[in-house]
Amino acid sequence: MSTYIFGHTNPDSDSIVGAISLAYLKNKLGEDCVATRQGDISPETEFILNKFNTNAPELKTSYAGEKVYLVDFSDLAQAPKDIKEATILGIVDHHKLGDITTDTPLECWIRPIGCSNTVIKQMFDYYKVDIPENIAGMMMCAILSDTVIFKSPTCTKEDTKAVKELSQICGIEDYKALAMEMFIAKSAVDGASARNLNTRDYKAFDMNGTKVGIGQLEMVDISVLDNRIDELFEDMKLMKAEDSLHTIAILLTDIMEEGSRLLVLSDDVSKVENAFNVKIENNQAWLDGVLSRKKQVIPFLQPQF
Ligand code: MG
Ligand code: MG
Ligand code: MG
Repeated sequence: MSTYIFGHTNPDSDSIVGAISLAYLKNKLGEDCVATRQGDISPETEFILNKFNTNAPELKTSYAGEKVYLVDFSDLAQAPKDIKEATILGIVDHHKLGDITTDTPLECWIRPIGCSNTVIKQMFDYYKVDIPENIAGMMMCAILSDTVIFKSPTCTKEDTKAVKELSQICGIEDYKALAMEMFIAKSAVDGASARNLNTRDYKAFDMNGTKVGIGQLEMVDISVLDNRIDELFEDMKLMKAEDSLHTIAILLTDIMEEGSRLLVLSDDVSKVENAFNVKIENNQAWLDGVLSRKKQVIPFLQPQF
């Protein structure tokens, strides 16, 4: 029976590529592993898969009775509904430790660095397994995505080193040009519904018993959404009611301006104002320098609850 490897719900490129790269490594180490995904592929991930001629992992949302490895998350809110009925063999991640627990000992590779694929690159090095060109290229893109081309405060020397080594393996010297192409693909909003935009990179959190949803759109120019703000708010209102959220926030992150336009609906907006030390006007604020949800948003919001 195969072991399944997958990332969080609303999978991003790190979750999809991480499932593929870790499954490859595990198979090389003699474990029968299959990469899967919990949701649709984003335009950015589609760009990466096309660029490196790789098929998307199979969609699978139920894991009762299965053995699994988790990549890029350890929060129950981002796991399959029946995760408690699965056996978790391991976690590879770079987020805060979540609330998933296990009944049996597990393998854990969790490091405070910019990307799960950097951790996986270190696992390849540890086990002295060669990375195929296409997988190296995809891992490189995942790291460039998660670290916003090294601009994110989550980026470490280990991430830049991994990108440089992976670029050698895949033979792409100008990885910054490729990364810009990737972010332009990621910025495609034409024809996308408000729900698609709000949930493209959306995560739910349980903050000490309070439900908070935070979405993020990383774009090369957020002004293309100027005429859709009302529509995004309308949909946020629905999402907030559907999931009984205390707070829903969408970050429109401008990777060139290096900051985020915050859209927020909250039962107590003062919590958000205190978290970021800003005044919320018309349910909005500009968060200067904020690029990372994991490092610049969650750690400030969570203590408010
Ligand atoms: Mg992720
Ligand atoms: Mg990640
Ligand atoms: Mg991200």
